[in-house]
Amino acid sequence: MRPFTYERARDAAGAVAAIDGETMFLGGGTNLVDLMRLGVARPRHLVDVTRLPYAAVEETPDGLRIGATARNSDVAAHSLVRERYPVLSQALLSGASGQLRNLATIGGNLLQRTRCPYFQDVTKPCNKRRPGSGCPAREGAHRNLAILGHSDACVATHPSDMAVALAALGAQVHVHGRDGERTIPIPGLHRLPGDRPDRDTVLEPGELITAVTLGPVAGRGAYRKVRERASFAFALVSVAAVLDVGDGTVRDCRIALGGVAHVPWRAERAEAVLRGAPATETAFREAAGAELSAAEPLRDNAFKVPLARNAIVRTLLELAA
Ligand SMILES: Cc1cc2nc3c(=O)[nH]c(=O)nc-3n(C[C@H](O)[C@H](O)[C@H](O)COP(=O)(O)OP(=O)(O)OC[C@H]3O[C@@H](n4cnc5c(N)ncnc54)[C@H](O)[C@@H]3O)c2cc1C
Ligand code: SF4
Repeated sequence: MRPFTYERARDAAGAVAAIDGETMFLGGGTNLVDLMRLGVARPRHLVDVTRLPYAAVEETPDGLRIGATARNSDVAAHSLVRERYPVLSQALLSGASGQLRNLATIGGNLLQRTRCPYFQDVTKPCNKRRPGSGCPAREGAHRNLAILGHSDACVATHPSDMAVALAALGAQVHVHGRDGERTIPIPGLHRLPGDRPDRDTVLEPGELITAVTLGPVAGRGAYRKVRERASFAFALVSVAAVLDVGDGTVRDCRIALGGVAHVPWRAERAEAVLRGAPATETAFREAAGAELSAAEPLRDNAFKVPLARNAIVRTLLELAA
């Protein structure tokens, strides 16, 4: 690991001012420190943001504000999150392990990097790690990688479970940068790879995530994660859904998919089919089919198409029951 220096941020402005090309924010360190050990991230200086006063989960007039340094475990267990946004609590609890969730922060979770094996191996080319070097995953090991929205340059997936729930909930991310504060919606924070897979998000260098806010949501929500083993594994496919049904008809729905794209994928085609449709398995299948009609699977991950379709239908059936 490259030697580095460390400081604790005293305030947001100081933390932002400290960032340059070789300085990075440190949250719980559960992703960044691994990447430093692998030589993928090589900061000279770390600014620890975990003591900034952003750890609270607070009620707002129309929802909830979750501070960016709140730990994943604390957010998952918070009574207001469990009552109002169970899909978020379930998504958080499906990720990593208890020990990791005790360290991992909300800001760091959103900005965790892909688990593509070539990205994590500095002896291999990778457009995300070294722009222009190539994408060996496209012809190589891509079983776990994207079926939607990928490009010739990169077929990686975003690994966060929490981000999928936040995409379904239409969360807003609050950031503090050199030019002041701004708010970015999810989806909208993460980027499709296009020809710049090295840029995971729309954040400018040095922008600090300070909070995530959630608005009112009608209906019931659930998170379903399909993975290789029952725990401690990233999603092959996941579904976050919120369904509002009245008199047997879908009044509203919000669906997002994980494990299928470079971003938490909001299933807008499926949502459009469902609004106003009967809350039946036939309609759920039609909606899932409409979303997955855009899929472009690679040689070894076509299984994700029926997997995602079935996961959407099962989740919606449970919510409608
Ligand atoms: C073995 C293992 C299994 C895992 N399984 C899962 C899983 O199944 N599902 C899942 O979703 N996740 C999983 N994870 C990933 C885990 O959730 C992330 O590592 C964690 O959420 C990252 O949070 P952190 O606070 O530790 O971030 P860090 O590692 O500290 O930081 C990650 C990135 O975010 C930046 N950053 C941190 N805070 C801020 C901020 N406030 N503003 C701007 N930038 C910031 C850092 O500079 C860094 O680039 C797993 C991790 C491990 C090690
Ligand atoms: S899929 Fe993306 S992260 Fe993986 S090797 Fe290709 S460019 Fe790198």
